[in-house]
Amino acid sequence: MPDNLATRPRHGRYPIPWVTTVRDGVPDFRVHDDLRRWRVATERRCQLCGFTMGRPVAMIGTARSADLRTFGEPPAHPACMDYAVAVCPWLNGSDASRRPMPSVVDVMARRLQPDTLILVTVPDFEGMQDLDNRTIGYRALGDYTSTRVVER
Ligand SMILES: [Zn+2]
Repeated sequence: MPDNLATRPRHGRYPIPWVTTVRDGVPDFRVHDDLRRWRVATERRCQLCGFTMGRPVAMIGTARSADLRTFGEPPAHPACMDYAVAVCPWLNGSDASRRPMPSVVDVMARRLQPDTLILVTVPDFEGMQDLDNRTIGYRALGDYTSTRVVER
């Protein structure tokens, strides 16, 4: 586990992602905290450990998301994302009842249960806000410096 992630509170064996909503001490892994989604974009914070990120950053989503460079999941440090892909049942598909945060392009295509995810690293990103200023996604900026297929 990356040192940054080791500082996070745990739920069972696993660190609770910084962006995850916690109510009365209980994490709801299905729900992201809106303010923290915004802070990922404005303060360049890793969605998993909460520390600030340098470059590149890691992003994960469907092949359609990767093609259109538009992701629902916030970016993370590459090392944090590698760890999450290895252990997170939502990302690696070991819990098929759950899924990562879909991007707007996936919602529009009604494709919410991908067979594979694409993990990319990219030099930079920006948040995408709706009319209520909620952060609804993240756009990759610059050419992908690596891509990896995550089979689920
Ligand atoms: Zn991190």
